Amino acid sequence: MKAPRRARDGQGCKGVLQIRDLAALPFASLLSSQSIAGILPRLGPVTGAAGRNGPSIMNKMPEGAGLGRRALIAAGAATGMAAALPAQAQAPATDPARPILLRGALILSMDPAIGDLPRGDILVERGAIRAVAPSIPAPEGAEVIEAAGRIAMPGMVNGHIHLAQSMQRGLSTEHSFGGYFQTIVLRHSNRMTPADVQLADQAGALEQIAAGVTTVMDWSRETMSPDHADAALAGLDAAGIRAVLAYTAPPIPQGGDAAAINGRMIAHARGLLARRAEGLVRIWTCLQGPDFTPLAPALADMKRLAELGVPIAIHTGAAIYPNRKARLLAQLDAEGLLNERLQIVHANTHEADEYRLAADKGVMLCSTPEVEMRMGHGHPAMFQAAAAGMKVSVGTDIPSMVGGGLLPQLRVAMAAELHRINVAALAGGQGVPATPPVTARQMLEFATIGGARGLGLDRVTGSLTPGKRADILLVRADSPLTAPRSDPAGLVLLQAGPGEIETVIVDGRFRKRDGRLVDAGAAALFTRLQARAEEMAAAAR
Ligand SMILES: [Zn+2]
Repeated sequence: MKAPRRARDGQGCKGVLQIRDLAALPFASLLSSQSIAGILPRLGPVTGAAGRNGPSIMNKMPEGAGLGRRALIAAGAATGMAAALPAQAQAPATDPARPILLRGALILSMDPAIGDLPRGDILVERGAIRAVAPSIPAPEGAEVIEAAGRIAMPGMVNGHIHLAQSMQRGLSTEHSFGGYFQTIVLRHSNRMTPADVQLADQAGALEQIAAGVTTVMDWSRETMSPDHADAALAGLDAAGIRAVLAYTAPPIPQGGDAAAINGRMIAHARGLLARRAEGLVRIWTCLQGPDFTPLAPALADMKRLAELGVPIAIHTGAAIYPNRKARLLAQLDAEGLLNERLQIVHANTHEADEYRLAADKGVMLCSTPEVEMRMGHGHPAMFQAAAAGMKVSVGTDIPSMVGGGLLPQLRVAMAAELHRINVAALAGGQGVPATPPVTARQMLEFATIGGARGLGLDRVTGSLTPGKRADILLVRADSPLTAPRSDPAGLVLLQAGPGEIETVIVDGRFRKRDGRLVDAGAAALFTRLQARAEEMAAAAR
């Protein structure tokens, strides 16, 4: 293996893995799977965003251009975000004990027993959905929201995102996988302080809420210390989003005491688990997994983390993973690791019988269609996996490349799958299907009840079902983008944007209202994010 070198990459903060250390990383530890040693041979010399696809436009930019470009992108993002930020005078203190009645909406319940209601009411009490019916009398003291002209639907579930990378928004616009890893992971993520993680997690969660996502699975690569993990939780708590925080452990610095660091992280995770068994934020763990490292230590890591008794998430099966293992799912099954406490992310290239095996064992799968197709992971596995019976969610993956919540991912995935089917039909001498075999409603199921199932949260969220927590969206069906109203699922999926997502309720609390985030501190938060992102971009050059 050729050891990658880049002088200025050696200047990161103390205690954080440096590129020059990678070749010497230990494998036989919990933290071994966090190493990226496995992917480096395929990346070639570390020269910015080049990877093995040759120089990118980023590489050709003059020194110093990065910050200007970053600032430009951030300024554009800030302009768009302004519309979603709270007005100064507006900071409604919602009383969580006060019932809420949403009245007169077109309801897409995503619950087969309830179905769609052309006009209906939803009653929320103490954070839970109490009733969904054509007409519900307002209880004493209830806040009544007139929702005529709106589509009420469950909040969306983002099955995989690296929220802390909201600090690096837009920096991966021209990245290949190699460029992304070398730039974002090694020169940004690894240098984030706990305060950075808190800021970025909160900001990223607010972006998701603004786009109609009420539940996220936050793959926190940045939990490099217990303080980082606490900071990620503080950011999620402050945003008020429902979340799964996937806790990981950092790479061991060269010469570091692996046993001590592992022990400290696991003890901390255990403490969090004891305190976070219920509530808005649950704890999982995550590892790079066997497709990034030799098999034996990766399996040992998974078995060790399995003792915590919570789901483990791993990235698997992408065509670009250099250490991808043939028949990995079958191998995991042989080790007793294929079970309902495993989430596989991407998982594009497993064999047909492996998806069926994974389905039988209750394994969860998440596809992130846009990043997967841009970077070469492969066709999104979500359709094949769902057909095999797996619990499937859809995610956005890396905010450094793509944003805007879940709807863009669903549109991309639907188009990609129809394209695949059409191309195959034409190649086989047949005409394209007269009726497209993937529907808008199926795609919305992936975003709601399917996604909730894909995170093991379908008893809590994912449909407008009495007894579940109140994660609800009101989508305007009378805006310039959505009028005139027709098929509601198609309207939400293919016509609406974040601007149409007028109201977002998480766990019975308004988080977006009248088209604006209700968090009175959001504007100041994004100002701080901008300033810190510029500092970090300058330090990473
Ligand atoms: Zn990921």
